[in-house]
Amino acid sequence: MSEPVGESAAAGAVHVRAPGKINLVLKVGPVSEDGYHPLATVFQAVSLYEDVIATPAEEIEISVTGRQARQVPTDESNLAHRAAALLAEATGISRGVHLQITKNVPTAGGMGGGSADAAAALLACDLLWETGLAREELGHLAAELGADVPFALTGQTALGRGRGDELTPALARGRFHWVLALSEEGLSTPEVFAAWDALPAAGPEDVPAPLEVGEDVMQALVSGDPHRLAGVLVNDLAAAAEQLRPAVGTMLADAVDVGALAAVVSGSGPTVAALAPDHAAALEIAGALRAKQCADEVLVVTSPAPGARLVEPVRESS
Ligand code: ATP
Repeated sequence: MSEPVGESAAAGAVHVRAPGKINLVLKVGPVSEDGYHPLATVFQAVSLYEDVIATPAEEIEISVTGRQARQVPTDESNLAHRAAALLAEATGISRGVHLQITKNVPTAGGMGGGSADAAAALLACDLLWETGLAREELGHLAAELGADVPFALTGQTALGRGRGDELTPALARGRFHWVLALSEEGLSTPEVFAAWDALPAAGPEDVPAPLEVGEDVMQALVSGDPHRLAGVLVNDLAAAAEQLRPAVGTMLADAVDVGALAAVVSGSGPTVAALAPDHAAALEIAGALRAKQCADEVLVVTSPAPGARLVEPVRESS
């Protein structure tokens, strides 16, 4: 008879995996009275995942390993800690949990890594504590934790409005191939928005475009054609991210120089996502970008990817 093996098969351990995201389109409106910027965005989850293993403990405890782990807090400010505390409060449960986070998504990279940890922690604690919340209820808690957390639960492709948390699933066909140019040092999302606020307007007659995702974007997604998708990639925050971090502009230009169909800043940056026509081209583009040494790390990923989900324990083949 085969026995479960691996960390997640330890007694009472729950292993959940949640994806990072890129923004294929990110349009930003002027700051409103509540201090937030209205957004119109298209999220797509990518095959770069955060792993969270939850085990019983007296209190809520966090440990972090993996990419840029030293930049991530392990106290109550960690988004996964906040997620566990919120679930406990919402369900009236007084249980602890140890959350072991393995990071792959860059920290403060504009790819929603902390949000993925929060989504994974919500699902892992729900399963460990047997609180049995419906996905929809987890989604409500996710929205309380941060604008990008609901998307990390659902994954795939979605339109985001409001602060990015009003999600509508979007239809996308096929698989897209990306080269991600990562930076060791992240960018603070509030600082990027502040820099965007301070950018000079194009002129007094400049009327802001309506804050919506165009039909051309939806058609490009449904076509599954990377050449069409390349034509609609846009991020209004790019100029602000470039101003704070000139290397972002270099990465964008270099990616296109070495054969990407287009390149876009993800979220508030500094990660740059370069779209390749296919997997072989993505590998070539990645090699060429590494040779240019414009990024601290270069990865090849695909999209779309599934949202937060339970990783079944690995079983020995008999
Ligand atoms: P977004 O695109 O959602 O604005 P991001 O991907 O740019 O976010 P994150 O990696 O999610 O950035 O984290 C931003 C900040 O939040 C970090 O600088 C870190 O101090 C803090 N933080 C809290 N919890 C986490 C976590 N679990 N992982 C990473 N950062 C976290």
